[in-house]
Amino acid sequence: MKKKKPGKRYSVLFLFVLTLFIAGILFFYHAYQAVPLNAMDQESLYTKKEKKKSDSSPKGVALDSRQQKKCQKIYQNAKELLVLVNREQELSEDYAPALRTISNGRLSVSEILYDDLRNMLSDAGDSGHQYWIASAWRSRKRQQELVDEDIQALLNKGMDYEEAEQEVYKETQPAGHSEHETGLALDILCSSNPDMTISQELEAGNQWLRENSWKYGFILRYPKDKEELTQISYEPWHFRYVGKAAAKFIYRHNLCLEEFYQIAVN
Ligand SMILES: [Zn+2]
Repeated sequence: MKKKKPGKRYSVLFLFVLTLFIAGILFFYHAYQAVPLNAMDQESLYTKKEKKKSDSSPKGVALDSRQQKKCQKIYQNAKELLVLVNREQELSEDYAPALRTISNGRLSVSEILYDDLRNMLSDAGDSGHQYWIASAWRSRKRQQELVDEDIQALLNKGMDYEEAEQEVYKETQPAGHSEHETGLALDILCSSNPDMTISQELEAGNQWLRENSWKYGFILRYPKDKEELTQISYEPWHFRYVGKAAAKFIYRHNLCLEEFYQIAVN
């Protein structure tokens, strides 16, 4: 039997130790990398989830093609109820809604919404909420008078005309651009609070309207989180009739009318 040379034995031992050493390095390297890599994966998954979530959040119009088709169908079936009036979109001059008086003849609304309005206010009444309708249909002429009155008030304070006009148009729409001219919009104040201010949203009656008006075909027209799109400050008192199908769709998908339009006509 041949005896192994001591040199060869040492080199086998050396190779064994080297292998262990490399394996050790690889093990620790992997263990060290595994934690942050894993954490990063989780982080990016989380970010993806959040992104997906924010896509369908109030500011994004991210509806799937089935929902888009539904929106277009609703629009085709109720175009006259969905007329868009805003800072850019002027109401045609010959627009003349059939009107019906409300509030003991003090105000008028488009007769299309009369029954739904009556049912809504009656059901709200059953829940203990009473309202005072501050404004409904307004003629183009009346809208112009309101603008002129506001401008005059600022002129009286010493503002020049251009400045006063600019100031007024921050709050009031120019004639031909107010939704009230359609007869489809109402300013509904709670009887417990006569102020047409943001304080309305604290009233239980206003909360009831914001949560239930869609069931009767109304939407909160100028929501808090859509001011950039509507170009109107949050108005918790201003409700707009769009018909039940559109109101349900708009409420469910948290849209404003401008967003609904964007989907419906594209
Ligand atoms: Zn209004």
